[in-house]
Amino acid sequence: ASFRVGLTGGIGSGKTTVTNLFAARGAAIVDTDLIAHALTAKDGAGIAPIQTAFGNEFIAANGAMDRKKMRDHVFSDASAKQRLEAILHPLIRAETALAINRARGLYVMLAIPLLVESGTWPQRLTRILVVDCDEQTQIRRVMERNAMTEPQVRAIMAAQATRQQRLQAATDVITNNSDIEALTPQVERLHAFYQSLIAKS
Ligand code: ATP
Repeated sequence: ASFRVGLTGGIGSGKTTVTNLFAARGAAIVDTDLIAHALTAKDGAGIAPIQTAFGNEFIAANGAMDRKKMRDHVFSDASAKQRLEAILHPLIRAETALAINRARGLYVMLAIPLLVESGTWPQRLTRILVVDCDEQTQIRRVMERNAMTEPQVRAIMAAQATRQQRLQAATDVITNNSDIEALTPQVERLHAFYQSLIAKS
């Protein structure tokens, strides 16, 4: 599992849609969002330290972190955001390392939504693939999927890296402005390219 593609993109850019297409062709997908989610689900390794640091009111009755409450809390309090990240990031890293070791596939694709923002992953990645999407399309998709208003989507986007910052970090780009059919040839070209790099290494 030494050939590692980090995949990133803004909210609703199409990361999950794109990783599904790579997975169908034999890439092993490690999704750090799913890992983070599991850590803050009932019995997740993040629950006890979050309870200690933030108090019982951030743990819901079902034993999981109260996501909405925590989201609102860290959105308005930068130091709380830092404390939460100090708890979760090392756990996410450790779980991700385990998942990479367990992964069986032609290569590993790591979906890391905040790859560019966190800035500490690239040295362990062979390629950085950005799913790029124009802002209007991105906003429309998230509004439809999450029943959000445009200002709500824009607020999330404002807290993320800009499109240009992401593209600057990219070694590879998939453009997702139209339909799924437009993604297939781009995925196939990159998948073949990655395999050619693996064959040469
Ligand atoms: P998030 O950052 O919120 O996890 P994401 O980057 O993983 O999102 P997806 O969930 O793949 O993005 O896509 C966002 C929404 O847009 C989904 O509802 C998805 O079905 C839709 N979508 C993505 N790409 C396309 C496309 N090419 N054609 C039509 N719908 C699309």
